Amino acid sequence: MKVGIIGLGNMGGRMAKRLLEQKVELGVFDLNKDFVRHFVELGAEEAGSPAELASNYPYIITVLPNVHIVKETLTGTEGLMAGFQSDSLLIEMTTSIPSVTKELNAMMKDKGFRMIDAPVSGGVKKAEDGTLSIMVGGELTDFEEVEPLLSKIGANVFHVGEVGAGHTIKALNNMISATTLAATGEAMALGVKMGLDPNKMLDVINASTGKSFSSDFKFPNQVLTRKFEVGFTLDLMVKDLNIAMSMAEEEKVPMFISSSSFQLWKHAWSQGGGDQDHTAIVKYIEDMFGV
Ligand code: NAD
Repeated sequence: MKVGIIGLGNMGGRMAKRLLEQKVELGVFDLNKDFVRHFVELGAEEAGSPAELASNYPYIITVLPNVHIVKETLTGTEGLMAGFQSDSLLIEMTTSIPSVTKELNAMMKDKGFRMIDAPVSGGVKKAEDGTLSIMVGGELTDFEEVEPLLSKIGANVFHVGEVGAGHTIKALNNMISATTLAATGEAMALGVKMGLDPNKMLDVINASTGKSFSSDFKFPNQVLTRKFEVGFTLDLMVKDLNIAMSMAEEEKVPMFISSSSFQLWKHAWSQGGGDQDHTAIVKYIEDMFGV
């Protein structure tokens, strides 16, 4: 199988490595030439532009920071659309805005090209292990065509609806994840302020109804160790929350809990340091609580 990938950062780089390990013939493009060189050393082929990649590889994966970059990568002068063949299939794995994804899909369809959205969840650890969750929006036949490929990087690959549906559920998932981390951060900081031992608190919470991925994984590995190792930045989390909130705006529904959490995330982000790991939100809470 010949696959081209654009975006070799924290997530895309780990996915590319998995694909190479599983003998996928891989073409790569990234603005960061050090990343490209690294993958060429591992056996990938470098493309000079997205158009060149699209003309040589029938399946193209994009794992880019945001939808604006995806759009430019698709439609720019040397963009993917300048190179796509009639059977090309774009697998758009960026966390992105569903309404814009639908517009891009309509544009692709007009030219006779195919697209699915397939954002991921699980962070760098699961990307490394090939155990990501992948949520796909698109034609069922396109999904079935690429499911074996996606299974090389994901342990749970879901078809969730038409194009845009993957990006919709991904934004909702991250809204839950962000809100849970913020709520756990507040509870932990309050407990510490009241004299409780944070390790003991986690033991109790993880054996009780307050348990979540935040208490079970992020707190023991990132927060209590004070590592805050960068895997998923604060910048990206705030981008995702903006997407979820704009979806609620479009649908004209209130988001009482999520919008409070969003304000906290935006507050932390506005202090600077968007390139820190998103788990650093806990440090802002601790500062507010004076612990
Ligand atoms: P990243 O910033 O680490 O990587 C982005 C890569 O894209 C970089 O290598 C950068 O050089 C490259 N790039 C930027 N503009 C480009 C362009 N115009 N052409 C080619 N390459 C370009 O980001 P990431 O953490 O890998 O996240 C990528 C996407 O995956 C985001 O949409 C993010 O929301 C989503 N995501 C991230 C995580 C995570 O844990 N990091 C988890 C799930 C989803």
